[in-house]
This record gives sequence, structure tokens and C-alpha cells, in this order.
Amino acid sequence: MSLLTVGSVAFDKLETPFGKTDKIIGGAATYITLAASYFTKENNLVGIVGGDFPKEMIKSLNDHGVDTEGLEVDENGKTFFWWGRYHNDMNSRDTIETQLNVLDGYEPVIPEKYQDCEFLMLGNMVPAVQHATLKKFHNRPKFVILDTMNLWMDVSMDDLKAVIAEIDCLTINDSEARQLSGEYSLRKAAKVIMKMGPSTLIIKKGEHGALLFQEDKIFFCPALPLEDVFDPTGAGDTFAGGFVGYLAKTNDTSFDNMKRAIIFGSAMASFCVEKFGTERIQNLTAEEIDNRVMEFVQLASFELS
Ligand code: AMP
Repeated sequence: MSLLTVGSVAFDKLETPFGKTDKIIGGAATYITLAASYFTKENNLVGIVGGDFPKEMIKSLNDHGVDTEGLEVDENGKTFFWWGRYHNDMNSRDTIETQLNVLDGYEPVIPEKYQDCEFLMLGNMVPAVQHATLKKFHNRPKFVILDTMNLWMDVSMDDLKAVIAEIDCLTINDSEARQLSGEYSLRKAAKVIMKMGPSTLIIKKGEHGALLFQEDKIFFCPALPLEDVFDPTGAGDTFAGGFVGYLAKTNDTSFDNMKRAIIFGSAMASFCVEKFGTERIQNLTAEEIDNRVMEFVQLASFELS
């Protein structure tokens, strides 16, 4: 089944306790489409970059099977830039600087050939733009998943609630789930958020795994305890890309299949954090992914005697 991802393609400057990078390639849609490329062949991207964005990176996305017809290049503009600094725990970070550049006032254009996509992933962006994007489809995609962040809860809560009302699945982290719902218990928070619209909710808990909620069902997926975490940037997007890519590959949105999809998403995220930026998820093999998924299976399975 075909997947369309709409989101940021960026330059990131990163600082972690283990090192620093100057401008490297990042962006939510970059991580999502790269992760999804290991699962689905119809993998389309809508976004915008400036004339400063390396053409080799667009080629590298194409080499991964990502269709970039929907990636606008504004030759006179500069690519979106984000600078993040991680705390020693590697779970929390500060945004030092954001330069919207070509994302300022950007309105995604959906090429006609993407109109029939079955799976739509709305990466983290201004909620009103996510909403306007959803309205551009002649027929609503079969499954719409949205990612967001605390910034939009602080500055555009009404717009965020308006788009959340129209999606199938929301991915947020635990503190965002508490902020959005006003509930401390994640179980209560999930009930409140699912009443806002999405029938499925994924709450990401960083190194503590992820929770999948649907109706009154819950599934927990651990994160793999890694010896070295180098750079958590993009882990959430890579998780989402693996999750939605697996759903698109299998064309099955049952709760049981979503359990498998969140394991694949978590496996992809575990690779992402092993190196800076997109480096690790650009160079994976199917065998590495299968072996990593088996580590998850072993980590969480046990028998009652
Ligand atoms: P994650 O670590 O999964 O939350 O995603 C990090 C990515 O999100 C980075 O590559 C950034 O370029 C991108 N990003 C950060 N802030 C924003 C924003 N306000 N809008 C769109 N993308 C962003």
C-alpha cells in the first residue's frame, strides 16, 4: 500500500554529551521516509528545502525508493534549521535555535499522483498546516497518523485539537500526553485523548519503550537497553516511520498487527540512536532489522510454569 509523508526536511545542529555536529541532514520527514523505506516500496514525500540542500541527499532518498516529486526546492531560500542540545540523561533536550526559513508560510502541495495514498503520515509541523494538508485530499486516506510536540500545545492548542479530531492515530511522548489531557495517569490520559478523535494512541517513553492504546486495549513495547546511545535525534520519527511503513506493507490496521508494527518501529528507533543523525538508518540490511526484532521478542517473552 502507498504511504505519503508530509513533514520537515532540515539541517540540524546537534550537541550530545558524546559530541557535536555542525549542520547535518535531519528533519522529521527525512527520518520517517528513510525508516519506512525498509518496509514499503510506495514511499512518497511532500516537503520543502532551500537551494542550499545537497542534491546528493535527495538522490540518496531516491536510492532508498523515496519518491521526492512532492519535495519542493526553493532555489532562493534556505532550508529549515534546528539546533538541539541534549542533557546528560539523553532523554531531555533544549531547542537552542529554530530557523523556519523556507518552512515559513509553506503550504504543502499534494501532487495528483499521491491523491490516492492509503496511509498518510503527518510529521511534526504547525497544526494548522497539518489540518490544511489533510483537507487537500479528494478522498481521505484510509489511515492518518499524526506526530506533534509540546511547542504546539503551548502556542496552538485549539488548532492542534482541531486536526487531532480528524485523524486515526496520534503519536506523542508521555509528558505531552499529560499536557494534552490534563491527566497524570497515562491510562486516564489515553482515554481523554482518544475521546478527542484518534481511535489509536501511541505514547512514546523514550528509553522506557512505548504504549499502544486502542479502545480498552493496551500493549507495551520495551525499548532495547543499548550499551551506547549516541544521539536520540529523530528516534521518535524513525519509530513512526517503521510503524507506519510496516502497516502499509501489511495493509492491516488491526490491533494485533499494530503490536507487531510498534515492535518494528522500536527496532528502527534503536538503530537510529546508535549514530549521529540519519547515518545509521541509511545503511541497514533486512537481516540486521530481523535480528534486532528477534532481540525485542526475546527481551519481553517469558513462560509461566
Ligand atoms: P525527534 O527527535 O523525533 O523529535 O525529531 C527531531 C527532528 O525534528 C529534527 O531532525 C528536526 O529537524 C525536526 N524538528 C525539530 N523542531 C521542529 C519543528 N518545530 N517543526 C518541524 N520539524 C522540527
